[in-house]
Parts: sequence; C-alpha cells; structure tokens
Amino acid sequence: MKTLEQLVRPNIKSLKPYSSARDEYSGEEAIFLDANENPFNAPYNRYPDPYQRKLKKRIAEIKAVSSDRIFLGNGSDEAIDLAFRAFCEPGIDNVLTIDPTYGMYQVAADINNIETRKVKLNADFNLDVNGLLAAADENSKLLFICSPNNPTGNSFKRADIITLLEKFEGIVILDEAYIDFVPEKSFLNELLNYPKLIILQTFSKAWGMAGIRLGMAFASPEIITVFNHIKYPYNINQLTQDKALELLKSEDAKDKWVEVLLKQREIMAEKLTGYPFVQKIYPSDANYLLIKTAAPKDIYHFLVEQNVIVRDRSSVSLCEGCLRITVGSEEENKALFDGLDRYNG
Ligand SMILES: *Cc1c(COP(=O)(O)O)cnc(C)c1O
Repeated sequence: MKTLEQLVRPNIKSLKPYSSARDEYSGEEAIFLDANENPFNAPYNRYPDPYQRKLKKRIAEIKAVSSDRIFLGNGSDEAIDLAFRAFCEPGIDNVLTIDPTYGMYQVAADINNIETRKVKLNADFNLDVNGLLAAADENSKLLFICSPNNPTGNSFKRADIITLLEKFEGIVILDEAYIDFVPEKSFLNELLNYPKLIILQTFSKAWGMAGIRLGMAFASPEIITVFNHIKYPYNINQLTQDKALELLKSEDAKDKWVEVLLKQREIMAEKLTGYPFVQKIYPSDANYLLIKTAAPKDIYHFLVEQNVIVRDRSSVSLCEGCLRITVGSEEENKALFDGLDRYNG
C-alpha cells in the first residue's frame, strides 16, 4: 500500500508555509502590535485565529474526534480543492468518482487540470466496487464517495466502502454532507483504522448554516497538517467562527430540524405517489427526494411559474426523467403540492 508520504506532491512536502503574526504568537491577553491591525473597532479589528481553536474544541466534543484531526474550510468545497492541490500532480494524476454524484469533485478536478475517471453506479444506485478498483492505476490519487449520495439520495453499504478503503491505493474522500439525516453511523469512528481516509461534513445542511460557509474535514493529523500548510492563513473569518460557536452551544436546534424534515420527507413521498406523472420515488436517506417523471423539464418550468424551484437532474447519468426536490418546511412543501395539483401534463 502507498503511504501518505508517497502520496503528497513533492512541492507540497518541501513547502515552507507562510507564517502569520498569529502563528508566531497566539496568546490572548497581550498588546498586539505585530499584525498592523487597527486598534479600534473591536472585536473585528483583529485577524481571526488561523486554526479556529475554540471552534474546533467544540466540534471535537460534539463529534468525539480529537482537534488535531479536524480541518475547517470555507465550505466543504475548500477541503475538496485542497485535496487536489495536496495530492494531485496537474496533467499527470487522476481521480475516481462515482457517476452520478456531486458535481464539485469534477469541477475542482478540471480547475486543477486533473483527469476524472467516472464509474457508473449500478442500476439500483449501489457502488460498482470492482469497477472502481479496475479504473484505478498508479496515478489515481483520490477516490470520492458521497454517502448518502447526491442526487440519488441513497447511502452505500458499509461493507462496500470498507472494501474500497482496504483496496484503493490512494486517498478515499468520503463525503458525509447528509449524514445527520441517516440512522446509520458515520465513518468518523473508523478514522483511526484508515490513515488515508478523509471524511467531509458540513454546516450547510442539517445545521442550517449554508450562509456562513463552514465545512469540516476529518482525517489523520498528518493530512490535517498538510491542509493547514496550504490553506489561506485566515480562511475562516471571525463572523463565521462566532456564529458557528453560538449555534453549537447545543445540538437541540439541529436535532429538532432533522426530526421535522424527516417527518416532512415521509409526508412528501406519500403525497407524491398520488400524482399520475410521478413514475417513481427513490428511497432517500437525505433531505431531498429524487423522483422520476414523464416530463421533467415541463414540470420544472411549470413549477417555476408557480414560484416553486426544484432541481432538474434529467440530464444526469442514470437519472433520466428525474427531478430532485429538497424537503422544505410544511408551508413550502404545501406550495409544491399546490403547484403540482395545478399541473396536468
Ligand atoms: C451540499 C453538499 C455539500 C456542502 O458543501 P458546502 O461547500 O459545505 O456548502 C458537500 N457535499 C455534497 C455532496 C453536498 O450535496
């Protein structure tokens, strides 16, 4: 098996990272004349903690993962991009993704000039484990698995993910953006067994904080150190750190929202079965439903006219005829049903 040492790009391994004023001295009660800040307009006159220690301490408690295994980014998107910059040599290396899946992996690959090798899911949306392993070669550095998967909504079998972790030579990035909506356990408790596993979670979905842009990556301390060396020094601004700490005082709000949304998802699935133009509702482990219809574009545009916006996924692999509908509040979902009631093909 390749070691982490062998996977990190040579230029990153030999990088001398930027050392900020707050790297060199990070105590609290001091007179700071080291960063050319303005002494007025506290607290936002100061640069934020580059390593977000307070916030990570709280996240470490909630997730039962030690702080040195946590990286915080400007959304999960930052961690995805950093993984390319840390491990993939432009024009030479490649990454593996399932198909269909979240579009950002491919975009980040394209920006970094890295080939994406897409391996279709099976017809039942399960992982083609052998296909993924067969698509890999010695330049395959990353394997992206999104579970529950966007847009299909299903989670993958734990045993299949374990097989990939055991057999893939590179880094496995497991995107758990929707993990709070699933009864099954996160892979966080497997971090110690798999030093080349990166788990992504986010504050954008169950936590209801997409607006503050805060994503989490959990991995070995060695991978977190690599990310810390290449990130922008002050990547998480003070407002975001403060707001996240405020919401993380308790998990009650998140748990309540999840409960409401799961109930609403059930109601939505039930209600959608009643429309003759809805051919199939795929089982979902997330806060959205993928549905197959006879006329996806027509329904999409009709709903837009009713001021209800869903996602047209009909041009995505294996999703012919499909719309992806986010589970909203009871009132929002009623607006969707009212719109669909008026639609008659
Ligand atoms: C929504 C989503 C995210 C969240 O991205 P952020 O940049 O953290 O907002 C990550 N992965 C998947 C698969 C998603 O659907």
